[in-house]
Amino acid sequence: MEAFRAFLYVRSMLSTPDDSSPFPVVREIREPRFGALVHPEWTQAFAWLVQGMTTRDSGHDHPFDLGLFASRSEPESARRRWRALRESLGGDRVVHAHQVHGADVHVHHGEFAPARDPHLVDDCDGHVGDTPGLLLAVTTADCVPVFVVDPERRAVAALHAGWRGAASGVLERGIDAMVSSFSSRPEHLLVHLGPAICGACYEVGPEVFEALNQRTPAEPEPIDLRRVLARRAVGLGVREDSISVSAHCTKCTDSGLFSHRAGHGERQAGFIGVRR
Ligand SMILES: [Zn+2]
Repeated sequence: MEAFRAFLYVRSMLSTPDDSSPFPVVREIREPRFGALVHPEWTQAFAWLVQGMTTRDSGHDHPFDLGLFASRSEPESARRRWRALRESLGGDRVVHAHQVHGADVHVHHGEFAPARDPHLVDDCDGHVGDTPGLLLAVTTADCVPVFVVDPERRAVAALHAGWRGAASGVLERGIDAMVSSFSSRPEHLLVHLGPAICGACYEVGPEVFEALNQRTPAEPEPIDLRRVLARRAVGLGVREDSISVSAHCTKCTDSGLFSHRAGHGERQAGFIGVRR
């Protein structure tokens, strides 16, 4: 763990963020087998961890839409892709839920039996867990997939944070759930704000700034939701050098991602779990 922190420190000195943000920018790399975007440093540092984000080109079935609840979703086709995703990752079960832009987080703990792909729990916007073989998944198409790793406890979280969820406190609830369920300590957590719409592409009205306790402009302005979340993570006790931000934008970086603002009705999935 200390070696990884030293590595992060050196990396943060070498990285060249596109602004004055203190949070290291990480460019996820496409793993060759399934075409998911994975955090290169986490993959290298933690052999027990599986983490990533699907793209439209993942698997064999293109576009690789995992949406079950969007207006244009085709659930049966999507479930076939969920199964392909789980099998490619070597998971026993992948859990997901209908997301409602709220702050409820489901705690997954203990043994489980095989289930449908994905295994759906009650409506919520986040999952925390520590069971080997269990994959936690959130779907997005501009919102921020938040990935949390506790290397000490080998516990993980996947959270879905659009502006409403962020304002409702989904990050706070997710980290609280790790503390209360797995005795995680915030200063040990690593937080990655994954591929999402970037600060240049995401123009929102004053009410969004207000809901997020930001300086409220008179007219619509762009907001960097990942930076807002990074700041909130620091406020929760996560170390600044343990927080990273994806270089990928769903709308402008041509990363093969679905973007609601670009008119896509499909969804990609952010997944994280402990290997069996
Ligand atoms: Zn962008």
